[in-house]
Amino acid sequence: MKNTFVISLIVLAFAFGCSHEESNNPQPRSTTMSSQDESPDSQPATRPSKPAAKISASGYDVTPLGPEEKALLTKDLTPMEYRVTCQSGTEAPNSGDLLHNKKTGTYTCRVCGLPLFNSHTKFRSGTGWPSFFSPYDPDHVRDVRDATHGMVRVENRCARCDAHLGHVFNDGPQPTGLRYCINSASLDFVGADEELPPKSLPKDR
Ligand SMILES: [Zn+2]
Repeated sequence: MKNTFVISLIVLAFAFGCSHEESNNPQPRSTTMSSQDESPDSQPATRPSKPAAKISASGYDVTPLGPEEKALLTKDLTPMEYRVTCQSGTEAPNSGDLLHNKKTGTYTCRVCGLPLFNSHTKFRSGTGWPSFFSPYDPDHVRDVRDATHGMVRVENRCARCDAHLGHVFNDGPQPTGLRYCINSASLDFVGADEELPPKSLPKDR
């Protein structure tokens, strides 16, 4: 008898709890979620819709670009440039237009213009692709683990527009011992005697 009474109390309490909850939460689930976002423990409701600008050590805006900006930048690429930068393709060895370039200047991203390598870090690797022993700024070249083609390599991408650049290996010359093996199709070259275009200049210059 006592047990039946206790069970009845629990059932009543449960039923009351449910109806009480329902009466206090008439909004659909989505509205309930947004009200949770406004709780003191969550992000403030006035948070900016766009993330704060990310500035590299050398003063460049390396905030990752959105899909619309990338689509705009890639619409005029040649089929080879698009295949390499947007589909992680590789140009044929000894085919790139910058492989034998020995001029002094800056190698920039073919897609977004961010400076990626300096001519003074370029060396002859004999691989058939432009090779560099260090990036222009470590903040400009992003490393990504690449386990395709039955091997594990470190892929390089432009930190700003995410264009595929090539791969980095540990068999380069000193002082770094690194070899950035980069597709010409991912690069543009601006000679030291030329002016860098606005897209290749630091922020606020
Ligand atoms: Zn880029």
